[in-house]
Amino acid sequence: MTERFVVVGAGTMGLGIAYVAANAGHLVELVEVDRARGDAAMERLAQLWDRAVHRGRLSAEQATADRKRVALRAGLAEVTQAPDVIVEAVPERLDLKRAVLAEAETLRPALLGSNTSSIPIADLAEGLTRPERFCGLHFFNPVWAMALLEVVVGPATAGETTDAAVTLARRLGKDPVVVRDMPGFATSRLGVTLGLEAIRMVADGVASPADIDKAMVLGYRYPVGPLELTDLVGLDVRLDIARTLQAAYGDRFAPPPLLVEMVAAGRLGKKSGQGFYHWADGVRAGGTELPGPEAAR
Ligand code: NAD
Repeated sequence: MTERFVVVGAGTMGLGIAYVAANAGHLVELVEVDRARGDAAMERLAQLWDRAVHRGRLSAEQATADRKRVALRAGLAEVTQAPDVIVEAVPERLDLKRAVLAEAETLRPALLGSNTSSIPIADLAEGLTRPERFCGLHFFNPVWAMALLEVVVGPATAGETTDAAVTLARRLGKDPVVVRDMPGFATSRLGVTLGLEAIRMVADGVASPADIDKAMVLGYRYPVGPLELTDLVGLDVRLDIARTLQAAYGDRFAPPPLLVEMVAAGRLGKKSGQGFYHWADGVRAGGTELPGPEAAR
């Protein structure tokens, strides 16, 4: 069954969710307030379709059909169809997400989801008129490659909404887990812990980012090291999550000064070309000089 999707925010996650939804045959309106980012997302999607054809994962006809299913919109007011599903994927800030969700629910979707990595669904639901239709739909990066979808059940989420989210996950080719509404859920709370400790280890001069990552890959069989993963996620995104978790659980989640410095310097990881590694054309190209006195120790 074709559903009408609205995805709000065309950043790393929003464009990935749009790609996967279109690939599953759904019609997608991708809402992005920043014109340059919206254009960049459509270009990136075009590259993804071209690459999928090149690698034999999609036929040229399928890619063309998927491409036609995604339309860019400059705001929720420009959405043209009554959506079945809205997924919010704007930056990890409570006030921004609340404002977007409040506007989104005026379109009366059957299912309203937030891609938040860490903010409790109960906090996001405050002020919603239909909180029973709302839950966390936590996709992982890159969305087209990662099998997990974490469905986060808020105190007001109806059982039917959870069931609809699980069904949707399977239709998108994802394997869902249903988790209780706690800050950081089942995934970010553990994943961010490892990432923050790895950043403290870089600042302490324990080893280079490449060697810390290598140790976890070879010694613990992680598919990717915690610092490379931080680059892939975005240092700004991880900083926002750390602050949310610090507010909930205390200073064990306090962001390390090196992370704060790197974000202030615009070193956001893969998306900015520099993080713990240098990135060229989306590929990890080598280590970088790290800023700040702590890193130099
Ligand atoms: P991002 O910064 O790459 O993209 C967010 C986009 O939202 C930006 O393009 C921004 O211009 C846009 N935006 C801001 N306000 C808007 C509005 N009012 N309407 C429409 N668009 C708006 O962020 P991201 O990495 O895609 O993360 C988005 C969400 O997904 C966050 O909650 C994050 O915690 C979560 N998440 C991120 C990852 C990851 O690996 N990056 C993984 C899982 C979940």
